[in-house]
Amino acid sequence: MSEQKKKVNAAAKRLKQEAKMRRAEARKQNGKWKILAAVVVCLVIFTASAVLLKMTGLLNNTLNARIVLAAESMSMVQDEEQEDFKAQATYSGNTSKVINGNTGFTIQDLLDDLNSGQGYELTCDGDGTVEGEYPIHITLKEDLEDRLVLEYRNKVEIEVRDGELEVKNKYGEWDGKKFKRYDGEYVKDDFVESGGEKYYFDSNGEMKTGEMKKGFVTYEFADDGRLISVETTLDVDKPMVALTYDDGPGKRTDELLDYLEENNAHATFFMIGQNIKDEYAELLQRMVDIDCEAANHSYSHQQLTKLSDKKIKSEINETSEKIKKFSGIDAGLLRPPYGAVNDTVRENAGMPMILWSIDTLDWKTRNAKSTIDHVMENVKDGDIILMHDIHDSTIDASKKLIKKLQKAGYQLVTVSELAEARGVELEPGETYAEFWKRDE
Ligand code: ZN
Repeated sequence: MSEQKKKVNAAAKRLKQEAKMRRAEARKQNGKWKILAAVVVCLVIFTASAVLLKMTGLLNNTLNARIVLAAESMSMVQDEEQEDFKAQATYSGNTSKVINGNTGFTIQDLLDDLNSGQGYELTCDGDGTVEGEYPIHITLKEDLEDRLVLEYRNKVEIEVRDGELEVKNKYGEWDGKKFKRYDGEYVKDDFVESGGEKYYFDSNGEMKTGEMKKGFVTYEFADDGRLISVETTLDVDKPMVALTYDDGPGKRTDELLDYLEENNAHATFFMIGQNIKDEYAELLQRMVDIDCEAANHSYSHQQLTKLSDKKIKSEINETSEKIKKFSGIDAGLLRPPYGAVNDTVRENAGMPMILWSIDTLDWKTRNAKSTIDHVMENVKDGDIILMHDIHDSTIDASKKLIKKLQKAGYQLVTVSELAEARGVELEPGETYAEFWKRDE
């Protein structure tokens, strides 16, 4: 290669090199512009967004004065009168700030309105009849909602907070699987309603689960104690009789109640007012608790047919008052002493009069065996059996008689239950001696 050619090649190489460098520089400059353009675009977008957000109010939260309107939580006892719900409005900033330039209305003015109960409603799902906890909701009225959007926009907003209504059980409260009354006593031998469900607690105060028989009724409780079914075991198509006991209460009436309760049997007690002494208060309560019937046999066992209207009424009323005082129930049946009835008695009885279809003559024989035999030889479906619980022999007889009658297929019911099972509506002043099945 010549010297000249070498120089030309070197110059060309340099020129190429320079061109390459210029291109690289140009690319670099171009990139800077692109970045700058991107930044500008971003800024524009951001600003536009902010303006838009501000216009739509989404950014207001951080700019507005915020009043907190909170519903007050309350507590009450089930079924008692419910107090009015209340709410409290508070604001921690400058309350003299004007929120409506035209009227000069300030945050303080709005607070005053809210704290006097204006501009909102308080509602609650709990009506106070079922224990539990229920939210108390605040709903702003339409008028206030409109003002917040139209007049006070960008100036003030209201944050509402729910309260809570606690409805306490009217009897007491749970203590594990027991239920403690507010007086500190545990519920025993009784039902309690809690949270809309029914529970039963036995004589030790323990919550009942599984099956329980009480009178003619079988209760079924879930494992958590809720009452899930109630079935009556009285079969209206099967034979039944009513045992009735007159002239008591007596010293061994309580023992008779034991036999009846043990055997799921019911009986009717026609009591003499003057025999219902204060010492029998608990006995009468127990009588009705085990589904026996407390009934009226006059106050002093006089033959009512020989008395005046006024005297008949007082004989009956004074006894009913005593029964009511001790058992809490209104006696619904009268057995006139000696079964003596005339028009005057009918007019003044004020309740159905119950006689009998089997007279055991227990008061005369005073012999348990004779009483039992008399019943078992004569008994038929629908009978009303007359006995007297003031005699030892009758108490002794009843212990066996209850089992014998049940074994013979009789259900032992009260007089009212027997009448109801036979579809008889008892009328005041009328007499009834049996509820036999009539041929249809
Ligand atoms: Zn009598």
